[in-house]
This record gives sequence, structure tokens and C-alpha cells, in this order.
Amino acid sequence: MSVEREGGCSCGVVRYRLTSDPMFVHCCHCLNCQRQTGSAFVINLLIEAARVELLSGDPRPVEVPRDDGSRQRIFRCPDCQVAVFSEYGRPEVRFVRAGTLDDPSGVEPDVHIYTRSKVKWVTLPEAAPAFEDYYDSKALWPAASLERLQAVFTPAG
Ligand SMILES: [Zn+2]
Ligand SMILES: [Zn+2]
Repeated sequence: MSVEREGGCSCGVVRYRLTSDPMFVHCCHCLNCQRQTGSAFVINLLIEAARVELLSGDPRPVEVPRDDGSRQRIFRCPDCQVAVFSEYGRPEVRFVRAGTLDDPSGVEPDVHIYTRSKVKWVTLPEAAPAFEDYYDSKALWPAASLERLQAVFTPAG
């Protein structure tokens, strides 16, 4: 059964609802994510942009340089500037930051990526799929999630 989740920024101006479960959940240990969050990793819920329903507020995109020379858009509350989600080149898919959910403990990463820069004191569960850099989503994602992703990138009609 699909779960609806809600979340928002710190000041309450931005509120959102995820109208279904995400397609997949990343825990990213790359240095970009560490720097952007000021923390050891980020947890991103990958979900169709159309399934991120804004209840209030208008998150503002900020272009952020990455170490590889590319840029990434991070959407922030216009008031408190908390980052609620980001976009990596494809506006159809949002990377929602799990820490902004009302119940962050309600999601668990499906995969750990860029573990080559993982801080040493973080120990991953032995059963958790983990990769030194990126991974093959076709091999790891459930079929239903791959179908959802394909539906997003295939124009209707
Ligand atoms: Zn705010
Ligand atoms: Zn990362």
C-alpha cells in the first residue's frame, strides 16, 4: 500500500505532500551532498515531480555548483532557506530531502551511493546495497518503479 507523506521547511511557509511512495530512496555519501547539507550524507526520496504536491509556499531554485563542474538545482524556502528538494538535470524527477519530512524515520534508504567518501564512523547495515560510486538502477529498482520512471520520460499520447 502506498503511503502519503507530508513535510516542509523550518518556518512553515513551505509545506508539501508526496502523493505516493517514492520510486527509490538514496542515501548519498558524496562530498557534494556532505557540503550542501553540512552533514555526513543526505537521504533523497526520488519521486515524480507531479507527485510532489505543494500545499503552501513556493520553493525557490538555487543553482549550486558541483565538484564535477555541473550544476544542481536546490529548491529552498524563500523565507527560512531550508532546502526541501533538488533536481539533477531532469525536472520530471524530484529528490526530496527526507530530513524535511514530518516523520523522517518513516523512510529507509534502498541504496547507499558514493560510499568511497563515506565518513569512517558511519557503519552501514550489512544487508544494505552499497556502491563506491553510482549504481545501475535497472538492476536494483523494483520493476514497478522502473515503469514509473519510464512513464515520466515518455510523452503521453
Ligand atoms: Zn521556511
Ligand atoms: Zn551526493
